[in-house]
Amino acid sequence: MGQELIEIATVEERLSRARAALEAVRPSAALRAAEAEHAELVQRVAALEAERREVEGRIAALESQRDELGERLARLRGQGDHAGFRDQSRLEAESTMVRSRLEELDEAELEAMEERDSVVASLDEVTAQRDAVGGTVAELRAALDVEREQRREAVRTAEAAWAEALAGLDPGLRARIEARAKRGRALALSIAGRCSACHMELSGAVLGAVAAGRDVDCESCGAWLVGEGLAGGGL
Ligand SMILES: [Zn+2]
Repeated sequence: MGQELIEIATVEERLSRARAALEAVRPSAALRAAEAEHAELVQRVAALEAERREVEGRIAALESQRDELGERLARLRGQGDHAGFRDQSRLEAESTMVRSRLEELDEAELEAMEERDSVVASLDEVTAQRDAVGGTVAELRAALDVEREQRREAVRTAEAAWAEALAGLDPGLRARIEARAKRGRALALSIAGRCSACHMELSGAVLGAVAAGRDVDCESCGAWLVGEGLAGGGL
């Protein structure tokens, strides 16, 4: 039975390592950095879009003011055509004021348009950056998914090997191992004086029991110890 148990413990050891390797799959530092950069760029794009809307709103308001003044100027001209001499100079003065206001509006609109062009240029640049970093994030995530799937496959293979190893056992022994496996590690190897499950150093008494082929559990993790015992020279 000793050799059989060592084989089962070895299969369980592989299963345990495969599970630990799957657990250990984590986003790389590069992925985390790219995700953080992407999130920041998404925010900057949103801020620039808001800025662009604000400037465009301002331009639209200036245009509407200019249209109103243009209409007013046309009305003043119409009135001037039919006004008496006394009203002419008043209308002339008002027209001058409206024209001067129109010039101010033109200037303000020109400035706002330059501002909009500059915001649009920044927006294009930051959007391109966001898309490039987004591409990097997608690639790194895909690579992570591939790695995780490979390790998942390794776990499935190890689980199948474990099931196959148990299938060949005497039913009593099998039930005993399965009951232990439900609580954690069922079996562990004694390798070089240490438990292969928890890596704690085994006491001389435990190693002696393993070497003698007696049933003994790791004092630290409770796994059923099998294997080389004292022959490992762990003392
Ligand atoms: Zn242990």
